[in-house]
Amino acid sequence: MSADLIIVGGGAAGFAAALEAAEAGASVLLLEKQPDTGGSSAMSGGCLAFAGTDMQQAQGIEDSDDLLASDLRELGGGEADDALIGAYVSNQLATYEWLKAHGQVFSPVLEASSGQSVPRVHTVDPADMVRLLAARCRATGRVELRTGASAKHLLREDGRVTGVAVLRDGVLSELHAPRGVLLASGGFSRNPELVHRFAPDCAGAVFIGGAGNVGDGLRMAWHLGADFRDMPYIKGTFGKHPTDEVNDHSCLAVYKGAIAINQDGHRFVDESLSYKLLGAACLKQPYGAAFQILDDPILRSGDNQVRILDFERRLEEGLFLQADTLEELARQIEVPPEALTQTVATYNAAVTAGEDLAFGRRHLVHNHGALVRIATAPFYAYPSTAAVYGTYCGLRVDARMQVIDVFGAPIAGLLAAGEVVGGLHGSAYMTGSALGKALIFGRIAARTALGNAGG
Ligand SMILES: Cc1cc2nc3c(=O)[nH]c(=O)nc-3n(C[C@H](O)[C@H](O)[C@H](O)COP(=O)(O)OP(=O)(O)OC[C@H]3O[C@@H](n4cnc5c(N)ncnc54)[C@H](O)[C@@H]3O)c2cc1C
Repeated sequence: MSADLIIVGGGAAGFAAALEAAEAGASVLLLEKQPDTGGSSAMSGGCLAFAGTDMQQAQGIEDSDDLLASDLRELGGGEADDALIGAYVSNQLATYEWLKAHGQVFSPVLEASSGQSVPRVHTVDPADMVRLLAARCRATGRVELRTGASAKHLLREDGRVTGVAVLRDGVLSELHAPRGVLLASGGFSRNPELVHRFAPDCAGAVFIGGAGNVGDGLRMAWHLGADFRDMPYIKGTFGKHPTDEVNDHSCLAVYKGAIAINQDGHRFVDESLSYKLLGAACLKQPYGAAFQILDDPILRSGDNQVRILDFERRLEEGLFLQADTLEELARQIEVPPEALTQTVATYNAAVTAGEDLAFGRRHLVHNHGALVRIATAPFYAYPSTAAVYGTYCGLRVDARMQVIDVFGAPIAGLLAAGEVVGGLHGSAYMTGSALGKALIFGRIAARTALGNAGG
């Protein structure tokens, strides 16, 4: 069995790449190790970071490639690969339009979240989006999907990757593709042991992600000498309820004006930072945990279309603690009442004065939104820790998604896209850029494979 191109992984990156390749006339064999496709993409919050869209324009939000690029650069702390930022930015609007042309529907409300200077979270139902891409692939008649098919290692002829060895139903077979192999196998958030090797500080975090995301693609490429990027910046994302096993998603009331306090009742961070940095700060607090403290107007400012901002549903689920006074709330969360009341009073005074001397917070999130006081009962606390939802690091690729080896040369015939790739995010993370990267880089990788038959 062979096809023009073999794609490993049936998440957003794999299906976007498959559709792009099939629409260009290529035959594709898409391998998914799990019984079902979807990976982390299907369980995600469905937030996509796009800039300069018609939706933003209709809502009077001024955004652009340049602002998106400067936010990504600033967030990456000088560690992100500028070529990958360029690849993301220069292909993002076309990918938004491509999704729409394929029938993707976006929630009408735009939100600002981690790392964004303006509201640019475009929200989809993520499982539906993967299903839509899969259906569009099927409709081309050129994509064969095999589930329960686990790629085990890459096959090489004369230095070029020409196929994969695949285990399916207990049988190991070899599959070949003249256009090469595209790894879209996701990250390794379901492999805490591998995470620990790069980021021992994450030991106290919760680990969430697609069940198959244990780093197979990374290891297959490492075996051929692939280089890697951003490994030290694996971090847990802030806002995961420590004991809730129903919701996979974080709750980010801090981005609507809540503060984060530790068990001693003290703030410990500028809450407008990327939620990866908040997660790292949280894990350093006593018990590796914190509380988001907010009042009623902040709770009501949530958005039921965006999972990380859907506060009212979490309230209905009993995940917020609630009290008419801060003293009573403090007793419920076993924080010294005088510490909590003092912390909130100091913070409110800072908001009024327009200067947060303690942590330098200036906005709700990144460079967006004016701070609000926490003053109107009832008051709420959301217990929060950090969860590793994604590893956001991995194979070094160039702007065409060719995998680069440790000596800086492309590994012929080997491409990668999505969470298996490192370099875009650098030291922190913008909401929507992982799912965005899966789609955008998947499409780029497919184009490279097709333009690269011999190379
Ligand atoms: C709860 C949660 C919420 C998130 N929310 C957001 C969000 O709102 N916005 C955002 O930008 N990012 C979000 N992320 C991160 C984002 O979802 C992922 O980074 C992105 O979806 C990765 O897409 P992917 O296609 O690269 O990988 P995945 O969607 O994980 O797909 C990889 C697939 O490859 C398969 N696979 C692995 N190894 C093999 C193998 N050897 N052979 C065959 N198949 C294999 C896996 O089983 C999996 O199905 C979230 C993640 C989680 C877990």
